[in-house]
Amino acid sequence: MNAHSAPTARLDVQSIKKDFPILDRRVRDDKPLVYLDSAATSQKPLQVLDAERDFYLRHNAAAHRGAHQLAEEATEAYESARQSVAAFLGAQESDIVFTRNATEAINLVAYALSNASATRPGGAPLTLGPGDEILVTEMEHHANLVPWQQLAERTGATLRWATITTEGRLDEASFDRALGERTKLVAVTHQSNVLGTINPVASLASRAHAAGALVLVDAAQSVAHQALDVTELGADFLVFSAHKMLGPNGIGALWGRQELLAEMPPFITGGSMIETVRMDRTTFLPPPQRFEAGVPLAPQAVGLAAAITYLSDLGMTAVEAHEAELTRLTLEGLAGLKGISVVGPVTTEDRGATVSFTVDGIHPHDVGQVLDDQGVAVRTGHHCARPICDRYSIPASTRASFYVYNTPEDVTALIAGIESAQRFFA
Ligand code: PLP
Repeated sequence: MNAHSAPTARLDVQSIKKDFPILDRRVRDDKPLVYLDSAATSQKPLQVLDAERDFYLRHNAAAHRGAHQLAEEATEAYESARQSVAAFLGAQESDIVFTRNATEAINLVAYALSNASATRPGGAPLTLGPGDEILVTEMEHHANLVPWQQLAERTGATLRWATITTEGRLDEASFDRALGERTKLVAVTHQSNVLGTINPVASLASRAHAAGALVLVDAAQSVAHQALDVTELGADFLVFSAHKMLGPNGIGALWGRQELLAEMPPFITGGSMIETVRMDRTTFLPPPQRFEAGVPLAPQAVGLAAAITYLSDLGMTAVEAHEAELTRLTLEGLAGLKGISVVGPVTTEDRGATVSFTVDGIHPHDVGQVLDDQGVAVRTGHHCARPICDRYSIPASTRASFYVYNTPEDVTALIAGIESAQRFFA
């Protein structure tokens, strides 16, 4: 048990909120801020800010670059953060690669595959060529779509995708139809950043493996919101960003299966990732260093480790239960209004606390503006997952997303704000 959770594993949100001074902000003519945009980026608790500041104040040096005491301390802090990430995911620390964010982690895999394809064609399972296929879904964030389109272009492989149902679920029959012996890689989101849908990734991964494909899971929207164990998921790669999980900007991670990382050529090259360098050739360090060129992101890694400690102290089961309750209240509140269409599942089953919707007769940007006037911060637009708009023939949607510091009163403020938008545009 910890300071913020009761024995019933409920979060003590009033006490949590004290760790986030930004939530005391007043905005737009002195309205209290209601922050419902954590799917874009979460707020950061003092514990994370303090950890990063303490690193800069007392230990700052280039990790893995020097033998003086500060460099040793920086290296130790950086590697200890790697251990925290590994423990949080049920992984081995040697299989955790620090990246700038989830986007870079996905690009790392995509470029490693195309580099492997260019330098050792036919070297399965890491190479692709004409006739091979990459399978994604229609609900991917652009970060888990565009790199695969580009990889297909570079290698001559074909990109295929599984569709989504009217209810906002993955159409598993279309996934199974698209999957076949030509499929070399399946890239799928664990939780949609628009629909809130949680995909059955363990089952998808085992079907993909049976077909001989590698599996990458985009956990950018799930790792912060549910207990997650990479061995249970059964994927080959998993990616996420720290800034969506109470951590700092500028760091994320790739988890990869050891035997695959060991075979993968580097993506970004330079210092810190080499074994020996001569004027005409270079050999590379083993993973994870092979994929971490440049001075390591030690302060950010320390901040990420502090975020993991914070979440672990809350307990991910309690985090999940808290968000499920807020989702239930939001879906109920929206169902009580006229003219609302939820873009995504309307039950709490297998869905996270990200709720997108449209309001009849009002453009999503206008809904967002009325909410903003009342201090309620939501996101409007295509949320970097444009094909979902095409799927449902909508120009955009309004998205409310919740986290550990949100309360039922925040849901009430959202619903009241939508009602005033409806009155304003009536
Ligand atoms: N994948 C999903 C599902 C996301 O929601 C996001 C960001 O919103 C990303 C990937 C990319 O994350 P980042 O911009 O931190 O790299």
